Amino acid sequence: MRRHRIALVLLAATLLIGGCAEAAPEHVGSPNVSYTEPPLPAAAAPAPETSAAPPAPEKDCGDPTASLRPFPDSDTPMPTVDAIRARGRLVVGLDTGSNLMSFRAPATGAVEGFDVDVAREISRDLFGDPDRLDYRILTSANREKALQESMVDIVAKTMTITCDRKERVAFSSEYFEAQQRVLVVKGSTIRSAADLGGKRVCVVRGTTSLTRLQKVAPTAEILTVPMWSDCLVVLQQRQVDAVSTDDTILAGLASQDPYLEIVGDSMGAEPYGIGITKANEDLVRFVNRTLERIRGDGTWTRMYDQWLSVLGPSPAPPSAVYQD
Ligand code: GLU
Repeated sequence: MRRHRIALVLLAATLLIGGCAEAAPEHVGSPNVSYTEPPLPAAAAPAPETSAAPPAPEKDCGDPTASLRPFPDSDTPMPTVDAIRARGRLVVGLDTGSNLMSFRAPATGAVEGFDVDVAREISRDLFGDPDRLDYRILTSANREKALQESMVDIVAKTMTITCDRKERVAFSSEYFEAQQRVLVVKGSTIRSAADLGGKRVCVVRGTTSLTRLQKVAPTAEILTVPMWSDCLVVLQQRQVDAVSTDDTILAGLASQDPYLEIVGDSMGAEPYGIGITKANEDLVRFVNRTLERIRGDGTWTRMYDQWLSVLGPSPAPPSAVYQD
């Protein structure tokens, strides 16, 4: 009887110890906790040194947003436009990771956004149907090459009109004016571009965001990546302290993470144009007619209200400037 009681006590003790052992945290392997940094996105790299050489002087072409006037009538021959109509599809270069501007809607997989809607309006005027679009996914750095090699008819990808770019590609009139700003984790000590000195900042290669950042914050430690969605990941993983680019793109990143916020005033204006192969002047004039239509018939404001109202109440669409 006594032996039986001892056995029961032992059994209870074993269960108790076993239970405790299970609840206690355990170190597997070494008791020294070690932590490895997550890998950087493929092809991430520090920005090339700029301090070694004096910055290249900015090209001057007058008002870079000046474009070609739409044809007064539809009788003028339009060889590029005719070829696109004969093909039956408009080939558009864009991104599918820039929420609000051009991105895959998670629920449907459809490519949507403000830039996509501009392309749909061009398709509407070409074919009487907004959906005759074929997409080619581009990185920011590939936009000019895609036009120069005629891989696409148009680029609708948050593309800033600059004098430098106009030496290689043509642009429509301005269809949106973005502002370069800074995205940080909420509560960051970075409150504006003035705080970026010595901080790690993510930008995409081949962009005006990179060149402006190098000017505004020459001592920032810049990490360059292929796409803006890569910047979101490295900010979330705390591998950088900030991201700097157009407010349109930053608002799209912030819409995917409630812990992020846009801070500071504009670092400068980014006038967007539809990129077009330089030789295809008739297509530039055709696209400019579509842009005139959507500025005037309320379509532009509807598009702004649908996609970009996070940036504030709808401004008036930028007015067209023509060089001829
Ligand atoms: N607007 C800037 C540019 O054209 C950045 C936009 C982007 O990378 O898509 O370089």
